[in-house]
Amino acid sequence: MLYCADCRELMDAPCPKRRHVTRVPEEGDPVLLFRGDAVQAGILDAMLKEAGLPFLREGRLGSGLTAWAGEMLESYSIYVPFALYDKANELAMVLKTPPQGPDAGTEAAEQENL
Ligand SMILES: [Zn+2]
Repeated sequence: MLYCADCRELMDAPCPKRRHVTRVPEEGDPVLLFRGDAVQAGILDAMLKEAGLPFLREGRLGSGLTAWAGEMLESYSIYVPFALYDKANELAMVLKTPPQGPDAGTEAAEQENL
C-alpha cells in the first residue's frame, strides 16, 4: 500500500502524476475517503461525527465559487487520518454502493471522470 502526499490518496503503485511523491502511508496522513456532492458529503459528515472519527471536509470550488454556483454544484472531498481509514471506510461503503435503477450506469460513468 502506497500513499501520494499530493493527491492524498492511497494507491497500489507510485502516483502517475508528474512530481508527485509516493511513499508508505503514516498514521496521521490525511487519506481521501470519499468525494461527492453536498448531500452525500453531509450524510457521511454526520456518520463520521456520530462514530467519533476525526475528518477533514474540503470543497473543490472554494467558498467564492460555491456562493456563485450554488452549494449543490460543489463537490466535496472527505479525508480521514490513515490510522482510521479502514474504520471510516466501513461507514462510507453505504455511499459508495452504486445506486440501483436505470440511472446507475450514467452515474458510475460520471464518477469515473472526476
Ligand atoms: Zn499524486
